[in-house]
Amino acid sequence: MKYYVGVDIGGSNIRTIFGTDTKILLKLVSPTRKSGPVDTVVSQVIEMIDRGINILQITKTDLFGIGTSSASPFVDGGTRIWTPNISGVGNDWKDIPYMIPLKSHFGEHLVYSLANDCVSSVKAEQLFGAGQGYENLVYVTISTGVGGGIIANNHLVEGKSRNAAHVGHLVVEKGGDLCGCGQRGCIESIASGKAIARRAQERGLANPEGNRLTTKEVFDLYRQGEPTAQALIHETIEYLGMMFSGIISISDPELIIIGGSVFINNKDIIMDRLVDYVMKNSFQAISKGVKFVESELKDFVGDLAGLSLIFPEEITQLWQKLKPWTKTDFPIQEV
Ligand SMILES: [Zn+2]
Repeated sequence: MKYYVGVDIGGSNIRTIFGTDTKILLKLVSPTRKSGPVDTVVSQVIEMIDRGINILQITKTDLFGIGTSSASPFVDGGTRIWTPNISGVGNDWKDIPYMIPLKSHFGEHLVYSLANDCVSSVKAEQLFGAGQGYENLVYVTISTGVGGGIIANNHLVEGKSRNAAHVGHLVVEKGGDLCGCGQRGCIESIASGKAIARRAQERGLANPEGNRLTTKEVFDLYRQGEPTAQALIHETIEYLGMMFSGIISISDPELIIIGGSVFINNKDIIMDRLVDYVMKNSFQAISKGVKFVESELKDFVGDLAGLSLIFPEEITQLWQKLKPWTKTDFPIQEV
């Protein structure tokens, strides 16, 4: 029997998930280490996979492959990670080695893949979620950040260093707020959870103690009919609409899947207004008939993202039937 490993590298945690052809056996979670030598993150991933191999009492040769879904961007042809979520946060790392140490530890014969977390999420949604049956689709997350993944003509769009579809850094406002990427007016600097909270504060919204509101509190005020919060959210949705119109013009999709906590928790406010804006303001010859839906995998998307990059067709079909991610009987260990 072969074992499939999915890795999810985020700014806060690294998760590794171990699966077979029919089920998930184990999930390990560990806070992302951000100090030490530049290869700390890849060493941590190797350590976690070795730990899983030990727990499952198998060997390296039993592995089929390792699929990694990671915060990005990537550099050097997509073999190294240079993400503002990890690089330079309490360390002086620039680009973090990944693929080469991973392959030299586990062997060249395994199947490897590394993709941005949203790029691997569009693959996961296509194989196991709302995107099943579609060959032209886009996944966009609206969460702490804004990110995306595009599948066109059934091909994952990746680019020279696997950084394609960084839709959060589409500029929608000239001279707008400074974004973490160095540009001004990126949609991420307007519509991410963090940005909504910051912009609410700039417009004088605060909690009774005078502190900055959380994104949830801004939406709570919206629901109570508070006019500043309403104007802010309506404007945010229009900017998101500009981004989606651009994405449609670039990728000509049949389906747009939206996920991420800011969207999922407020889809009743965002979805209809967003679709209405896009349909009225985009190039209608291209956007007519494009379907907008909510992510179906939601919280499971991270578990499936890495695995989706490496699964052979026959394993995909088995997992589509059995949906092992919905069974909660596999152990989750914090390491
Ligand atoms: Zn940006």
